[in-house]
Amino acid sequence: MKLAMIGFGQAGGKVVDKFLEYDKRTGSEIVRAAAAVNTAKADLMGLEHVSEEQRVLIGQSRVKGHGVGADNELGAEIAEEDIDEVQGAIDSIPVHEVDAFLVVAGLGGGTGSGGAPVLAKHLKRIYTEPVYGLGILPGSDEGGIYTLNAARSFQTFVREVDNLMVFDNDAWRKTGESVQGGYEQINEEIVRRFGILFGAGEVKQGQEVAESVVDSSEIINTLSGGGVSTVGYAEEEVEETSSGGLLSRLRNDESAEELDTAHTTNRITSLVRKAALGRLTLPCEIEGAERALLVLAGPPEYLNRKGIERGRKWLEEQTGSMEVRGGDYPYRGSGFVASVILLAGVTNVPRIKELQQVAIEAQDNLEEIREESEENLEELVDDGEDELESLF
Ligand code: GDP
Repeated sequence: MKLAMIGFGQAGGKVVDKFLEYDKRTGSEIVRAAAAVNTAKADLMGLEHVSEEQRVLIGQSRVKGHGVGADNELGAEIAEEDIDEVQGAIDSIPVHEVDAFLVVAGLGGGTGSGGAPVLAKHLKRIYTEPVYGLGILPGSDEGGIYTLNAARSFQTFVREVDNLMVFDNDAWRKTGESVQGGYEQINEEIVRRFGILFGAGEVKQGQEVAESVVDSSEIINTLSGGGVSTVGYAEEEVEETSSGGLLSRLRNDESAEELDTAHTTNRITSLVRKAALGRLTLPCEIEGAERALLVLAGPPEYLNRKGIERGRKWLEEQTGSMEVRGGDYPYRGSGFVASVILLAGVTNVPRIKELQQVAIEAQDNLEEIREESEENLEELVDDGEDELESLF
């Protein structure tokens, strides 16, 4: 499906930049238009693929291009004040050619955390196309203020979008790695999963003869109804031959063809299980997910309807949902078969509860310190006997 992507804040901008790179590299054509919005000039300058005209610096009169310093209330205020400047960049997007908007932001900071929900609300008011969010949760080692920001932004963002897809940095961080190098890999991971998912709805007619290609309306229907989504992924390397031939074609006999089919089906079912039970973008209990979409991507000779049907059935059992869609995404030249599972309307998410708990503690602590700080300062400045006099 074709998306208009808007990255808000540093993380949002970097991820959208990566999506553009992915699009160029794979020719998937999912990014119909892209923009990056920030209060920090340096962050915008660091982008490589978002065009200069589509980089919007907001809040110049307030923060002079230096960012909001993890103050997401200020981020939200500035976004509201300068929404016309953001709209200016969106005006150049041929909205009739996009299937949906995707607003991307890291929820732990200030600009994206505060601004993304404001932008989503604005877009929903103006356009009829669905507005999705891709929200990135901070690592638990980032500290109280980031957690508090994320918890407040999550609550607001989910209310303003048609669906909030979540990626949890905490589940993906690796110890012993530089933050920068770590993000580089994490961003690759984000773009691979969501790239295949959205790319599935963008197969051009006649491009490949697939058995049951996923249509963008199936992605939209899975995401409709609001709530929170998570994505699972698993892949297996396969050997691609130019003729698309497998064992059967080499040996040209029927028993080998049967063997191929059985093998292909088994590979698909095991990839579906691995994707659903492995690390999700937002770890959660898959039981109770309201809707799901299963996408099998890879060279067409490695995809078959039976495998997808079995995978779908298994997902229905695991989630308890009767609304499980599935299809394939013929994808040549990658050297792998991949299973991507979108689980929409998940509600059993311990990580969110934990995030909220830590956020409440951080909030209480901040209030306490603020209250005490006035008293403490007074105590410090006071000379006790009132012997000293202030200058004025
Ligand atoms: P903002 O510019 O004020 O919106 O804040 P940032 O986007 O810099 O940071 C917000 C949060 O996003 C941080 O707390 C991190 O958890 C996360 N973050 C920052 N940069 C990246 C990135 O490149 N990739 C990912 N996945 N997360 C990031």
